[in-house]
Amino acid sequence: MGAAGADAKREFTKSGDGPRCRWCGRLLPPRSGPGRRREFCGDSCRQLDYQNRRRTADAGLGDDQVIVARAEIDALHDQLYLLAAAVEDVDHDLTDARTVADHREAVEHLLEAARPLAAVRFPASGVT
Ligand SMILES: [Zn+2]
Repeated sequence: MGAAGADAKREFTKSGDGPRCRWCGRLLPPRSGPGRRREFCGDSCRQLDYQNRRRTADAGLGDDQVIVARAEIDALHDQLYLLAAAVEDVDHDLTDARTVADHREAVEHLLEAARPLAAVRFPASGVT
């Protein structure tokens, strides 16, 4: 891997580091001063985490378990299926790709399938 590749990897790793919201997994903003470490990005995540802990306790499950609506799992599986299909398409397309345009088209196809997953915060809403 050349220097540009190493820099790109470092950039990616750097953007993914740091404490994350206990509920949605988003990166928390840097601490602005002394005090207790933040665990959540906002009140809605704190509330959803609280509700989930109550439900899991009622169901005899541990704090590390999450109760999720069937519709959320189904939607996630649909997106994963589309991503897997795109990976297969792009794998095939790249074997014949010759031009920059061919590669660009392959990457765009993959990104189209990956973007919705990059935005997923799971579970999004908890069970109501
Ligand atoms: Zn959050």
